[in-house]
Amino acid sequence: MSPASVRIEVGVATDRAQRASNEDALHAADGVYVVADGMGGHESGEVASRTAVDTLQVLSKGVPDLARARAVLRAAHKRVRALPAADALRRPGTTASGVVLSEHDGMPCWLVLNVGDSRTYRMAGGVLEQVTQDHSEVAELVARGVVPAQEAAHHPRRNVVTRALGGGSATVDPDVFWLPVSPGDRMLVCSDGLTDEVPDSRIEAELKAEPDPQAAAERLVDAALAAGGSDNVTVLVVDATVRSARAR
Ligand code: MN
Repeated sequence: MSPASVRIEVGVATDRAQRASNEDALHAADGVYVVADGMGGHESGEVASRTAVDTLQVLSKGVPDLARARAVLRAAHKRVRALPAADALRRPGTTASGVVLSEHDGMPCWLVLNVGDSRTYRMAGGVLEQVTQDHSEVAELVARGVVPAQEAAHHPRRNVVTRALGGGSATVDPDVFWLPVSPGDRMLVCSDGLTDEVPDSRIEAELKAEPDPQAAAERLVDAALAAGGSDNVTVLVVDATVRSARAR
């Protein structure tokens, strides 16, 4: 659903970069803006990320709340778990991150969801802030003070996720929370193919320099490719304009 007072404009860009195939998937329509980064080898990763994103699309119906988002993420986990494994050692799995436009306490809100190490950021007042926490081994090492934050981006364990839809775990513990929609919010949803290649300071500068969301998404993918492009890269830029009741 889309609260009548909020107008959304979205930009989308994805590239397989140096990989043979693109195992990222995305959905960016009807109030649901999500990225999934599949894993599992061969075609498993592609099927896993597509299955997750297809399942999450149901959140475009009604006025989803935190409980419903958790239930839909658990359903996605079950569906990905049920996929056939391409090899015996790696079960298909995927990350999922993004926002659903909904309402909470009568106010337009972003319902933020995250499992794994894809990321959702918010840029407000020209300042970029990561709003999701990575579920990765290195993020946990940083949180425990074992690895300094500035070393995390280059740490050899940075791509080992501790939570996923599907994968080896029988259950999933998704992060879901509310953020109020503020006029001029620019949400960024991306796979680690962006954040492993491009520092947050450069991402912020690109988002500030380019007002058009489609051009901004393309600039960020180009920046990841220019920086090496070692992984699939997917970027959604979601701009929200809030109209006051009087303007309607
Ligand atoms: Mn990736």
